[in-house]
Amino acid sequence: MLNFRNTNIFVAALLLMLLILNHFYPVPTFAYFIILLIYSFILFYGSYFIQSNFYIKTICSAQTNKKQIAISFDDGPAINFTPEILQVLKNENIKATFFCIGKNISGNEKILHQINNEGHVIGNHSYSHHFWFDLFSSKKMLGDMAFMNEITKETIGLTPKLFRPPYGVTNPNLKNAIIKGNYIPIGWNIRSMDTVINDEEKLLKKITSKIKPGAIILFHDTSKTTLSILPKFIKYVKTNGYEITRLDKMLNLKPYA
Ligand SMILES: [Zn+2]
Repeated sequence: MLNFRNTNIFVAALLLMLLILNHFYPVPTFAYFIILLIYSFILFYGSYFIQSNFYIKTICSAQTNKKQIAISFDDGPAINFTPEILQVLKNENIKATFFCIGKNISGNEKILHQINNEGHVIGNHSYSHHFWFDLFSSKKMLGDMAFMNEITKETIGLTPKLFRPPYGVTNPNLKNAIIKGNYIPIGWNIRSMDTVINDEEKLLKKITSKIKPGAIILFHDTSKTTLSILPKFIKYVKTNGYEITRLDKMLNLKPYA
């Protein structure tokens, strides 16, 4: 299995073999360079593809044959467009998970209450969602994540356990922070790319073509395109015999500590 530990063992063994071989035949320097280049590429792949489970096992879908899927919204709560998205979900009687950014709660406390009161789950998406979050020390990451939980607890009295890494990036420091903080890492297996794709038809097609039992879909409640396609998306899902369930119920997990 390709993970951080196995990769390190394999690369260390390979380098050792080359060093031994070097005693008998001179090994050109570029051989070491190529190994380090491939090693860097594998580490990069592991960091940026959450479903690779390279650094930490992340839940990206449910193991089920039932026609069930879960939807999640990252980066809120936001005046644009969390309330409108909540209205669509209410009209359709659908429950979702909102991975909120701690610093966005300030000034949007009412929206956070609304998310909770309307039966959705709130997950932790860090406090800062800092651009360099993945370069933070493990301690700093943990502090950032804990601060998000503190604000949520102060606002709605609940402490989130589900954690979605900012930008979906994982690394050894984040693994330590997740373990120390006793969080449950949650990824996705369908990324809508709704922060990049503005073409509604294209976005809708991209998501609906990938739907399968147990899927976890990543949307952003800051995306106008997501707000626009959401009713059509829900209609498509229902017409095709799927049920949208809450993430924690689909995965049989407790969402709060
Ligand atoms: Zn995010």
